[in-house]
Amino acid sequence: MRLVFFGPPGCGKGTYASRVGARLGIPQISTGDMFRSEAAANTELGKLAQLYMKDGKLVPDDVTISMLRERIQKDDCKKGFILDGFPRTIAQMHVLERITHIDLVINFSLDEEIIMEKALARRCCEKCGDIYNVADINRNGIHMPPLLPKKEGICDKCGSRVIQRKDDTYEIIKGRQDLYWKQSEPLLAYYKKKEMVKDVPVIGPPDVMVPMIIDVINKGIKE
Ligand code: AMP
Repeated sequence: MRLVFFGPPGCGKGTYASRVGARLGIPQISTGDMFRSEAAANTELGKLAQLYMKDGKLVPDDVTISMLRERIQKDDCKKGFILDGFPRTIAQMHVLERITHIDLVINFSLDEEIIMEKALARRCCEKCGDIYNVADINRNGIHMPPLLPKKEGICDKCGSRVIQRKDDTYEIIKGRQDLYWKQSEPLLAYYKKKEMVKDVPVIGPPDVMVPMIIDVINKGIKE
């Protein structure tokens, strides 16, 4: 099962991708996490990516595409994968179409004001990228309690430090929202035209969302 998770930055798609992936037995492939771990390891690729990431800009297509292409050829992708943060440009989408078949695109939606509040409260593991959140949102039928690690500041999955990402500032987050709508909306329009898109409004925490998403995927795959 090959899925693309779409949605504005901060809508929670990374969290859902990792949990839905674990339930379906397929890896979550986050190009953002891949660039961050390359940067943490100070590789040439990481240093290059960091030049763009620090300003919330997209890493050039050729670099991103070759990294992704290599990743989806690995053994753990034989049963499928969830792409999180890829494709982000028309060029990336066309290459993806050439190298693999995508079964479904899951499109998450969430009010921008809530996205901003949530995004500023986002924390992640500096090593494995697992995501947490310190915001407590409960309004307009949307209930999102904080998502905290069991031990404060320590990742549940790998025991490394939980931190706020350097690129999670108001200006950069707003910039990423604007960039998302500008660059990614045409991709969504294309996928919608091909009837590959299932819309999923974000209404609650992961334990509410994950079964909902799996249901949408199972029904979508059968259609
Ligand atoms: P994310 O964690 O998905 O928000 O990504 C963090 C940063 O990584 C982005 O702001 C970009 O600088 C870079 N990045 C992630 N995915 C892509 C992509 N598909 N194309 C270009 N740059 C990307």
